[in-house]
Amino acid sequence: MKSATRRVIFYIIYVVLLVLPAVAMMIAWIPRDIIVNISVLLGFIGLALAGLQLIPIAKMNWLADVLDMDKVYSSHHILSIFAIVLVALHPIILLVTNKVFRTGFTLNSGWIGLAGLVLIGLTSAFRKNIKLDYVPWLGLHNLLTAVILVFGLWHMFKVNYYMEIPLVKWVWFIEIAIWALLIIYIRVIHPVKVGKKPFKVESVEAEPNAVYTLNLLPDGHAGIPFKAGQIAWISTGNSPWVLSRNPFSYAGSDVAPGGRVRFAIKEAGDFTSTIKDLKPGDRVFVDGPYGQFNLQKDNTQKGIVLIAGGIGVAPVMSIVNSLADTNDKRPVYVFYGDYNEDTALYQDEFAAAAEKINLKFFTVLEKPLNEDYPYPGYITSDLMASVLPENYKDMFFFVCGPEPMLRAMEKNFVKLGIAKSNVYTGIKSSQVHIENFEMA
Ligand SMILES: Cc1cc2nc3c(=O)[nH]c(=O)nc-3n(C[C@H](O)[C@H](O)[C@H](O)COP(=O)(O)OP(=O)(O)OC[C@H]3O[C@@H](n4cnc5c(N)ncnc54)[C@H](O)[C@@H]3O)c2cc1C
Repeated sequence: MKSATRRVIFYIIYVVLLVLPAVAMMIAWIPRDIIVNISVLLGFIGLALAGLQLIPIAKMNWLADVLDMDKVYSSHHILSIFAIVLVALHPIILLVTNKVFRTGFTLNSGWIGLAGLVLIGLTSAFRKNIKLDYVPWLGLHNLLTAVILVFGLWHMFKVNYYMEIPLVKWVWFIEIAIWALLIIYIRVIHPVKVGKKPFKVESVEAEPNAVYTLNLLPDGHAGIPFKAGQIAWISTGNSPWVLSRNPFSYAGSDVAPGGRVRFAIKEAGDFTSTIKDLKPGDRVFVDGPYGQFNLQKDNTQKGIVLIAGGIGVAPVMSIVNSLADTNDKRPVYVFYGDYNEDTALYQDEFAAAAEKINLKFFTVLEKPLNEDYPYPGYITSDLMASVLPENYKDMFFFVCGPEPMLRAMEKNFVKLGIAKSNVYTGIKSSQVHIENFEMA
């Protein structure tokens, strides 16, 4: 099925599930107190919206491959705030107009559900300010989600304001059944699927600047095919039943023999600092591939410009090695920015690939140790314009690096007349792919 068709189907299902309870209530409209009716309507829409946040888009290839994941994460944040506001309006309206007509646990369960929703919002927005690590935050996030759904639904059924009407009741049963299926999918079916195709460590190689190359072999299966530029979610240990996996770009060739996969992982915190301790034979679970980038697409055929900063070089290595292994004839330009000669990654590998394919690479060093280094400073539009061929506007641009670099590239693209990308403008470009490592 075409990507556009899948996207449209997803949006239709999403909107239907969002408005279904409200539509059912309006069909069954009972001319009771209008203020109470409106406040219940808002609560219905808010709870339906909160339930829709359960869709694990990043873990469903059917969706992850056709939706822009940066937009999915930012929409998740915005829609969650909307859900909080809508659900909060329900009691606020009743309190202000003095129309609270339930007492005891029926009332309090509503307050508990709302408190869960507000806490999710606060702990997500201020996670880094309150120094809450990602995994404990995720555990809390899941717990609060359960609190919201259980207590919110309890309140709704117990108040029984519209729930005695079969149409409304059945619509809510359908919504709850879908939420339950989504939870079962992500917490049971998905780990079972990932667990069936484990990998084992072949080797771990130390690179400059606290980066480790993790080489993996399929353990008891033929491997999981992927395309250069895609990502996977990784976990270590013997069980696929984990709270969270961490995302990494594939860094090796997508036609590597024996189903081998490779990742380039920089130490950043709890999980990434355990990579260096992995030993050959240790088990690793690879949940992937995900992502839309594809070297076979028409818009990449006239040439590719790969721009990377620091560990953003990981997907670039996958693309370069895949092109080298297939003797691809396209012109490829790499602009790789790092600090100095000692921190620059995979320089020998770039040189080896340049022997095989039509590749020119420029390692730009912020503070080179060698005074005569030819490319000091940053990757500027002037440098790009001076080395790219005249038809560079026909080429495809792939960018991966830290946020300041992505912002600088946005400006370079404007100066070079390249179609704007999607990081800050929200505009989707057919000429630029931006891989953003900053996510949650
Ligand atoms: C699409 C994508 C591709 C990436 N590719 C690479 C790569 O090829 N090489 C590389 O070195 N890094 C890559 N990263 C970054 C890498 O995922 C994080 O550095 C790593 O997850 C940090 O985990 P930690 O526990 O070591 O650090 P922590 O200190 O616990 O986390 C640092 C930050 O990373 C984010 N993070 C942590 N765990 C997760 C998680 N399970 N899911 C989502 N975000 C998380 C959070 O924002 C957190 O604040 C990529 C990130 C994304 C989003």
